[in-house]
Amino acid sequence: MTDTIQHHLSDALLMAYSAGTLPEAFSLTVAAHVSMCDECRARLGAFDTVGGALIEQTETVQMAEDSFEATMARINNAEPEPQARPVRRGGLLPAPLQDYVGGDLDAIQWKPIGMGVKQAILPTSRDATARLLYIPAGAAVPDHGHRGTELTLVLQGAFADEVDRFGPGDIEIANEDLDHTPVAEAGADCICLAATDAPLRFRSLIPRIAQPFLRI
Ligand code: ZN
Ligand code: ZN
Repeated sequence: MTDTIQHHLSDALLMAYSAGTLPEAFSLTVAAHVSMCDECRARLGAFDTVGGALIEQTETVQMAEDSFEATMARINNAEPEPQARPVRRGGLLPAPLQDYVGGDLDAIQWKPIGMGVKQAILPTSRDATARLLYIPAGAAVPDHGHRGTELTLVLQGAFADEVDRFGPGDIEIANEDLDHTPVAEAGADCICLAATDAPLRFRSLIPRIAQPFLRI
């Protein structure tokens, strides 16, 4: 699967994940991508190595002006810690997600949110929301903008929006600057994991009225 992944995690997200500072919903999404992606797993190994060394130093050493550049240089030169290959339990969902769902696809409790789209909100801390989205082939998620950050990881099928096409394993990182209408590709229903840290801004009236009830 790694060969086909085109859209990866940013350095900022990997660094925050390594430091343990992400909200639970974002940590879950990062962990799920890392479990599907050899490239990001290797990058995470480098952050883990340098992060551990930095924590040991910070108590005694004042951070220098150029500490960010110095840190990035060390990350680029670091021997990555060997990362265990992800546990493959079979099924469609990556292992970190199966723990939240309590099984694979057939254990998900979908709730319809209109136009054939279904969602299942996962039990994470309330500072951010993680949801599985089921978008029938050819259907669209309503046009929306974002107040905060939205991470969308494709688990099955593919969607396209104004930015690009996203297939299995790809992650889209959206923020305030992006208004988009993700449309599932024809052929296969699309299943995604989406994490958001603020309510989305929907353009049309009906999704906005429904928003408080759907927690999106
Ligand atoms: Zn990746
Ligand atoms: Zn979005």
